[in-house]
Amino acid sequence: MFQDFQPLAAIATTPNGARKLQPLCQSSGATLWVPPSLSHISGAEVYPGSLKDHLAGLWQRHHSFVFCLAAGAVTRLIAPLLANKASDPAVVVVDEGGRFAISLCSGHQGGADRLAKLVALQLGATAVLTGAADGLGLPGIDIFGLPFGWQRGAGNWTAVSAAVARGETVQVIQQTGSKLWQQHLSGGHNLVFENPNLPATAQIFIGNETNLGENCVNWHPRVLWLGIGCERGTSTELIAYAIQQSCQSANLAMEAIAGIATIDLKADEVGLLAVCGNKWPLKTFSAEELQSIVVPNPSQVVAAEVGTPSVAEAAALKAANSQQLLVEKQIFRAEQIDNSSGAVTVAIAQSEVEYTGRKGQLFLVGTGPGKLAQMTPAAQSAISQADAIIGYALYLDLIAPLLRPGQIVEAFPITQERQRSQRAIALAKWGLTVAVVSSGDAGIYGMAGLVLEDLQAQNWDAKTPAVEIFPGISALQAAASRVGTPLMHDFCAISLSDLLTPWEVIEKRLIAAAQADFTTALYNPRSQTRVQQLAIAQSIFLQYRQPHTPVAIVRSAYREDEQITLTSLGELLETPVDMLATVLIGNNSTRIHADWMITPRGYRKS
Ligand code: SAH
Repeated sequence: MFQDFQPLAAIATTPNGARKLQPLCQSSGATLWVPPSLSHISGAEVYPGSLKDHLAGLWQRHHSFVFCLAAGAVTRLIAPLLANKASDPAVVVVDEGGRFAISLCSGHQGGADRLAKLVALQLGATAVLTGAADGLGLPGIDIFGLPFGWQRGAGNWTAVSAAVARGETVQVIQQTGSKLWQQHLSGGHNLVFENPNLPATAQIFIGNETNLGENCVNWHPRVLWLGIGCERGTSTELIAYAIQQSCQSANLAMEAIAGIATIDLKADEVGLLAVCGNKWPLKTFSAEELQSIVVPNPSQVVAAEVGTPSVAEAAALKAANSQQLLVEKQIFRAEQIDNSSGAVTVAIAQSEVEYTGRKGQLFLVGTGPGKLAQMTPAAQSAISQADAIIGYALYLDLIAPLLRPGQIVEAFPITQERQRSQRAIALAKWGLTVAVVSSGDAGIYGMAGLVLEDLQAQNWDAKTPAVEIFPGISALQAAASRVGTPLMHDFCAISLSDLLTPWEVIEKRLIAAAQADFTTALYNPRSQTRVQQLAIAQSIFLQYRQPHTPVAIVRSAYREDEQITLTSLGELLETPVDMLATVLIGNNSTRIHADWMITPRGYRKS
């Protein structure tokens, strides 16, 4: 969860402060720094000398800092180190009482706002965010493109952010990249889309060009694929020069480059690899793949040499999955920049979907029975960190307080589990961190199984997208806790829904459970179309258990409309039961005491 914030340093100067940060350091992998007087604190590193000097050494090497120290003291400490918001680390301050996690500095680009929320969830504290965008329920103007891998370009970011904060009309011109973000803004914003005639004080331009208007900022989705062919041994300088010149002469911002494409013969071309570094991916294609692509400028000489009439143009089109070039091939020769030899060909194509450069993650999250308090802090963090959240509308309402401005939240109807899974996988494959929420536990009649099955069907390599499962309190635990200890001994869960399981199988399991004297939790006991199943289950259990066997029917546990009924196996059908209920059938030793249902821990002989 803290991956984006590494390396992370935590600093405390008092025993209380150090104890507050200790568990946080354990779960986040942060180094905890303390003065020599606190050298007894286990797992902490001691800084010799002054904190001011020590911090100066840590500053450049860390992405984020969490201090347990007065906000004023932290402000004085970091003041001489601050450079600008594009490069300063995230700084979060926690008070000694652990009540607040304040995003002090680099809230947007440094990620301190997100870090403060994570820290707050871990400590049970309140996150304090003071940025204007957050107050307006908007994502920061300078960060909303990051989930999609967009690059920030030129512009007066401070002026445009201020215009948004003042509620002034800000115009958005989006020419490339996904428009998904536009559909997930909260109601009260003043952004206007695609209406150049409206008078606006500021502009957000999203595309390949750089717009140098006075109050304008530029975001560049990475949609440009540069096809490159070159002679063996061409220098890094010439390739870099060719890329820069091709973009400049076509008015394309280099930040919009998704990656480089070429023929597989060039996969080990030293200059190409050096230019790509870890900035751009290098996609390579075989001569067979390239030769079938129709290009404007095929060459017989090239065909004779490498087996395809085009490398640069064909590779650009193939990588961008496009039929039309943005820039046809141009040749750059070494003598243009120095006296060496070598030549490079560059062509540019534009892809429909931007390259995010991100690995993608799927969080399969159990949200528990209802109330937020019944959801684990880890699950809450997963939801607040995700770029996109997918679930059934009712459960999304329950987690609304955890959501952040700018998150993509997609609600699906109850029946569309498969669509939810497919959508989540598609977004994660694209590079987003996607949380798929299920009520209760995601791995018990929940979405986690579907997602893993679908991934397997798509030949998932078990790494990309990465999957993490966050357990939740399942309905059987929630229901049990409201009536006593019905599940104290061996128990089982059976779903009466025959949508995905043949009824014969369900019946067989009911008989086995009844026979084996398991306390049994019945999930999905009844729907509008399935009304007979519960009666059949009752008659099966009556063959092996007494009519007076205690039964609890718990509907909407931990929700506003919770209803609890204690009854018996014989009278079970007299209470109305629906899809929101779980039915707990006691075993032969289960008894009722006042309004508590008790299954004994051991079978003592009396
Ligand atoms: N993944 C969920 C189960 C989903 S199946 C879990 O682990 O709890 C849906 C069934 O769960 C419902 O038909 C009902 O039987 C049960 N259920 C879910 N939430 C419940 C709640 N708050 N109270 C009682 N039963 C609930």
